[in-house]
Amino acid sequence: MTTDRFARDLSRIAGVAVKVGEPLARYTSFKVGGPADYFLEAHTSLGLTACLKVVERHGVPVLLLGNGSNLLVSDLGVRGAVLRLRGEFRRARWHGAGADVGAAYAVSRLVRETVRRGLGGLEFAEGIPGSVGGSLVMNAGAYGSEMERVVTRVDAVTPAGEALALGREDLQFAYREARLPAEAIVTRVGMALTPETAAAVDARMRAIMAHRRESQPSGHPNFGSVFRNPPGDHAGRLIEASGLKGLRVGGAEVSRRHANFILNLGGARAQDVRGLIERVCGEVEERFSVTLQTEVRLAGEWPQ
Ligand SMILES: Cc1cc2nc3c(=O)[nH]c(=O)nc-3n(C[C@H](O)[C@H](O)[C@H](O)COP(=O)(O)OP(=O)(O)OC[C@H]3O[C@@H](n4cnc5c(N)ncnc54)[C@H](O)[C@@H]3O)c2cc1C
Repeated sequence: MTTDRFARDLSRIAGVAVKVGEPLARYTSFKVGGPADYFLEAHTSLGLTACLKVVERHGVPVLLLGNGSNLLVSDLGVRGAVLRLRGEFRRARWHGAGADVGAAYAVSRLVRETVRRGLGGLEFAEGIPGSVGGSLVMNAGAYGSEMERVVTRVDAVTPAGEALALGREDLQFAYREARLPAEAIVTRVGMALTPETAAAVDARMRAIMAHRRESQPSGHPNFGSVFRNPPGDHAGRLIEASGLKGLRVGGAEVSRRHANFILNLGGARAQDVRGLIERVCGEVEERFSVTLQTEVRLAGEWPQ
């Protein structure tokens, strides 16, 4: 691959925008992350397919970026390409109690839309700042529900650009993950919701919003929960009981309000967060013999 030829081949594709060396901090909720060698935005299905074929031909690794609310991107950035979906992937089509939603549609917008239409099932997702595609892949959940409950089908493409139509039986949902075949890139998600009155859905959504405000930190960039809950316990309880609330590495701090959150107090680096994650894991392991695993996904090139 020669850099110039790759960028030039991509720039010829209609519906695809290419940037070289684009800093990723502005695309992540924690506001950290170094540059992507190539930052690609696909606005159309045709553009996406053509783009993936070029990426494959040049043998460039590709990382999908949704709203970056569950990604810790290294300070060194990402070697290869980072791909974001825009344009037609930000649209939703509604049919009765069903929806066909583009992967780049914001979950927050989707929740508001279901409330307006009096469709129940997504209130749990109020306050989740992800995209529909990222939330499907993470099987995002809260307050006793998760994406799995509303998803009926998924349109995707393979990294080679081949279209996949996935039924529920092809989607292996688990706690905070959905295993999709062939490293699938999610393009659209079919959902079935429950017709109710707008007032009933709105009341449940507001109760969840209030609970979130009471229990979770706000005001500093974060990722939501950093660690997965181990079976039968809560990561936050273990971290708090280990006396780690307020622990700091550089600009990153374990929240004093909710111990499973790490906050960017200003100027934090990805390396600070990684260091803090390692300190927390070490202390919890030593005290409770529990190995915490991150829910947040680490991406990019890390120093040895
Ligand atoms: C304040 C706050 C509150 C949160 N609350 C919750 C919560 O209550 N429950 C919860 O589960 N999570 C929560 N999160 C975490 C996060 O919002 C969810 O995991 C969300 O679903 C991630 O979506 P995203 O678009 O930001 O994905 P990203 O962070 O961009 O990506 C996550 C993963 O999905 C992959 N991906 C993204 N888009 C696609 C695609 N189209 N096709 C294939 N792969 C893709 C990425 O490569 C990555 O591996 C919270 C985060 C914050 C900052």
